[in-house]
Amino acid sequence: MFKKILIANRGEIALRIVRACKEMGIESVVVHSTADANGMAVRMADESVCIGPAPSRLSYLNIPAILSAATVTGADAIHPGIGFLAENEEFARMVEEHGFTFIGPSPEHIAKMGDKAVAKDTVRELGLPLIPGSPGILSSVEEGLAIAKEVGFPVLIKAVAGGGGKGMKVARSEDEFASSYSMATSEAKAAFGNGDVYLEKYLPDPRHIEIQLLGDTHGNAVHLGERDCSIQRRHQKVIEEGPSPALTPEQRAYIGNLAADCVRKMGYRGVGTMEFLFQDGEFYFLEMNTRLQVEHPITEMITGVDLVREQILVAAGEPLPFAQEDIKIMGHAFECRINAEHPETFIPSPGKITRFHAPGGLGVRMDSAIYEGYSVPPTYDSLVAKLIVHAKTREEALMRVARALEECVIERINTTIPLHQRIIEVPQFRAGDFNIHWLERYLAEQEAESRKAAS
Ligand code: ADP
Repeated sequence: MFKKILIANRGEIALRIVRACKEMGIESVVVHSTADANGMAVRMADESVCIGPAPSRLSYLNIPAILSAATVTGADAIHPGIGFLAENEEFARMVEEHGFTFIGPSPEHIAKMGDKAVAKDTVRELGLPLIPGSPGILSSVEEGLAIAKEVGFPVLIKAVAGGGGKGMKVARSEDEFASSYSMATSEAKAAFGNGDVYLEKYLPDPRHIEIQLLGDTHGNAVHLGERDCSIQRRHQKVIEEGPSPALTPEQRAYIGNLAADCVRKMGYRGVGTMEFLFQDGEFYFLEMNTRLQVEHPITEMITGVDLVREQILVAAGEPLPFAQEDIKIMGHAFECRINAEHPETFIPSPGKITRFHAPGGLGVRMDSAIYEGYSVPPTYDSLVAKLIVHAKTREEALMRVARALEECVIERINTTIPLHQRIIEVPQFRAGDFNIHWLERYLAEQEAESRKAAS
């Protein structure tokens, strides 16, 4: 087992990993930028090393500085956390070349799943259902148009190197196709330096369902149920829950086993998530994230499995301590992503936290690295806390979310707490009756109504 782990990340996820290390008797080193010198993870870790100034490309993305910090502190393994270098094949390879263990999948698996065209080919061969579309990268507008006519409009043109919804354009008809195609390629080129695109049938109102997976180096793999992440704004998840109110136990077992088989056949090690769109009872593979997810605590609450601990054990070569039949889904969990943003305009709101009170009580978990007196830096993403709530049923969990949000105090920055309080009161949300477009449509309707009332 590792004696010391270096954590190449910041904020709540760095703290989450420090906590796992402490509970496993492993020493932790947190690297940080100058902007994070007062971070809670830095305070809680056994050691910390400043690796550069605030901009991430000079610190959290600075591979030589991270490797030097690992050498100087005598770490055995490096945990990349979420974002930054977590899905960077080059980084994973360099970590291993320098004699450290990368706490994540092999560089080959990261590369394979990072290219969406290759990922789709791989999982298609392994038997996963895909959205009808082009077999790979489109070579020309003409080829794209021919495929679009075959699968039927509307279609979605997507960047192979895509992420965060960038380089993605809908074409609703033949007339629109050429302009959507050129917009998608030029946006992809600008954002990712790679203009390659592929095409999929556009699903009008799917849910986003993702399967949590875990594989070891001994040929074992399990799934840990699903998370429903359909409550999104601009392709960003806002509230997630598990299990999905839309799945039957049979559907869960079907897609979960299929995804776990896929991971087993690939010989994948570590945690990973396969994302699917789900509509009219059918699943369609979207992508695989070869890392921990922000919303992993939902799965931890409903299965009782500590995913970060298992991730570390698997990286150290341990076999999984359970088989598929040992994994039981218990109760229901929600996660509210609390961002330092205005709850209506979504304008970021960095700054000093002058009052802070974290909610508590049975079934309430707050994953956050903030504290009274802490200043949220303007440099990084705006997630400041994840409120995770667990209860026996979805109804009880909803009451508990409302209670916990009411207890939560984060002043004097703006946060999205009032947005969460609004969403959980809407009957459609309470009924579990929504899809990936529901939140944006609801917010637009509300805004139109309040404008009408004001005029
Ligand atoms: P990215 O990597 O840019 O996040 P994804 O392929 O994961 O791209 O898709 C992001 C989001 O875009 C999905 O969660 C879903 O909301 C929407 N989306 C993607 N593909 C389709 C599709 N074929 N039809 C409808 N919506 C889609």
